[in-house]
Amino acid sequence: MTTMKRVLVVEDEMKIARLVRDYLHQAGFAVLEASDGATALSLAKAERPDMIVLDLGLPGMDGLDVTRQLRASSAVPIIMLTARSEETDRIVGLELGADDYVTKPFSPKELVARIRAVLRRAEATIGGGEIVRAGAVEIDIPKRRVTVGDDPVELTGSEFDLLLVLARHPGRIYTRAQLLDAVHGVSFESYERSIDAHIKNLRRKIEPDPKRPTLLVTVYGVGYKFADA
Ligand code: CA
Repeated sequence: MTTMKRVLVVEDEMKIARLVRDYLHQAGFAVLEASDGATALSLAKAERPDMIVLDLGLPGMDGLDVTRQLRASSAVPIIMLTARSEETDRIVGLELGADDYVTKPFSPKELVARIRAVLRRAEATIGGGEIVRAGAVEIDIPKRRVTVGDDPVELTGSEFDLLLVLARHPGRIYTRAQLLDAVHGVSFESYERSIDAHIKNLRRKIEPDPKRPTLLVTVYGVGYKFADA
């Protein structure tokens, strides 16, 4: 028996809220609704939804504040709804721990697909496994060894760490700052572009066609993700 997943939709524009609610109902989700941040936080605490769809542009406490407060005590998956002009906020939101974003205007169908993908990822046991497999790539963590198919690949320490971060969570979008932080434990804006260089080298080593990457995927204006097989 599958239990119905419950999605909290936080959106102050009634038209969009209604559209999303109707679509989620049709797709078999139960829906909770809030039109401001404070209500969202108390509903999230009281009702423990499986997922939160969160508009960033809310009156009063904005979506980033809500994300920050949620993440202080909860790992509930969050998908942000953002305006095209909110690129910086989108990046900040991901760095605060939001899982994904959809840019307005969006198709409800796309939103449902993203919700399903994020829920799937949240449920997948990531585990502290010794070996991570993604596509043809196999990462042996204790031995710090990578193979593609049966061929061993020589990676630098930074390349290995970067690949490991991405491949552990296929489909999860990481900003350059997050990746830099994961690789070096520090993040300075001026060094963020060095991630691009590492990615380029990694692609040359593990992609079947580095010019058309299918494993290490660029998310324009944001960062990178490992392909969501
Ligand atoms: Ca809004």
